[in-house]
Amino acid sequence: MLRITVLSVALLMMIQSWSQAVDRPNIVFMFTDDHACQSIGAYGSKINKTPNIDRIAKEGAVFINSFCANSICGPSRACVLTGKHSHKNGFYSNGRGPFDGAQFTFPQHLQKSGYQTALIGKWHLNSDPTGFDHWEILPGQGSYYNPQFLNKNGRRQIEGYCTTITTDLALEWLDGRDKEKPFLLMCQHKAPHRTWAPELKHLGNYNDQDIPEPDSLFDEWKNRSETLAGNAMSIDKHFYYDYDLKVHQDVPFSTAREKRLKDGEYRRMTPAQKEKWDAHYKPLNDAFLKNPPTGKDLVRWKYQRYIKNYLRCIDSVDENIGRVLDYLDEEKLADNTIVIYSSDQGFYLGEHGWYDKRWMFEESLKMPFVVRWPGHIKPGTRNEKLIQNIDYAPTFLEIAGLDVPDEVQGRSLLPLFKNPDDKKWRDTIYYHYYEHGGEHQVPRHEGVRSSQFKLINFYSNDGFNLFDLEKDPQEMTNVYNDPAYKSVVDLMKAELDLKRREYDLPPLKK
Ligand code: CA
Repeated sequence: MLRITVLSVALLMMIQSWSQAVDRPNIVFMFTDDHACQSIGAYGSKINKTPNIDRIAKEGAVFINSFCANSICGPSRACVLTGKHSHKNGFYSNGRGPFDGAQFTFPQHLQKSGYQTALIGKWHLNSDPTGFDHWEILPGQGSYYNPQFLNKNGRRQIEGYCTTITTDLALEWLDGRDKEKPFLLMCQHKAPHRTWAPELKHLGNYNDQDIPEPDSLFDEWKNRSETLAGNAMSIDKHFYYDYDLKVHQDVPFSTAREKRLKDGEYRRMTPAQKEKWDAHYKPLNDAFLKNPPTGKDLVRWKYQRYIKNYLRCIDSVDENIGRVLDYLDEEKLADNTIVIYSSDQGFYLGEHGWYDKRWMFEESLKMPFVVRWPGHIKPGTRNEKLIQNIDYAPTFLEIAGLDVPDEVQGRSLLPLFKNPDDKKWRDTIYYHYYEHGGEHQVPRHEGVRSSQFKLINFYSNDGFNLFDLEKDPQEMTNVYNDPAYKSVVDLMKAELDLKRREYDLPPLKK
């Protein structure tokens, strides 16, 4: 009798472990570059529509307070892969590298545990990807038009538009995979990164309308650290006519540098592509050059040119996300696949008069994070807990039933999927931007953000700023020296110290 029971238990365990292996969910991680939450329907966009990204949110959850740990391309990607802050994964800034792919990364763990793994599109870590059965990546920043791709065997150029081709390659891999095993697909787009070159078929979008301007388009950077005014990322002063604004004709009032800086995307196009491109831009550019606006009207003109191209790039992203969702439906994979859409950090869409990212202000600190996982996440969930890109790796490991190594600093999001109101979740996030000066003149800084307050320390040049996000959501006034906020300053400084200890930060290097 005893023997039979032991045998039955052993058999049951075998069946359980077998069923766990076959039932492990697939993971589709769709990631873009510089896609701001202000331009996603699910985040309340006032300037565009993103029906396919919104569909993920509607059938799953949107995380309103999702943040990066270091707002710049390569470092954010390193945080995603390792679940660690920059000082622990070693990839502090785009200029430094390569990324150490021998350290823990979640794709390597998934691969070792039997997942099929693939990475298609933008990588940007100055190294060959590790942990992937298959990878095909863009060299460096990649190109929008007729892009080159690198794989284990060399490189190839594919004619067409990058966002569509990246999706084609991802679907091709999905089709050819071993259908008996769970998979991880990371489909990572170049778009909507500068220089915002839209797909030809979307050039007509937004043509007959003015996109609403953000309230702070003419921010003069007063009542905050003086270092803000030293920025080199303003729509007014730091756009190049050809490179950024697609005015390929001679602009008599442009600077010598602007004249030198030509948009490589235009030069990459085939004659047929150029013809369609010119048919759209040339009449608009001729009209602009015939009667160029001045002063604030010129800033407004630049904003419209910039934002329309940015949104057109997102139109292609959204459409291609729809293709992936359709594929999952057609192949009956949707029920056992967790789908995530995110972007390496946010972006300024004219807020504070800026484009670009890097600062710890809301628009570039935030990352979109929408997720669908049927049966595990209640459709239509809106979550306001503070999550960060270091949380993705432990989440994926837990989904796959794997242990999270001690070195990982992020936390699995599964408790929040189960209980969106989890009281044990963190109250603040830590941020650290390490580059200093450079092209956009953003100083290094670190800080902490709670649900109501944000403390930033520009430790190399300008000291502390405190923002009350409830009263001042646009972060226009530093209240660090306001006596009414003395106790908040003390609290947030203590919180910063706590986070520095928790994450084992070395002393600041000024
Ligand atoms: Ca980026």
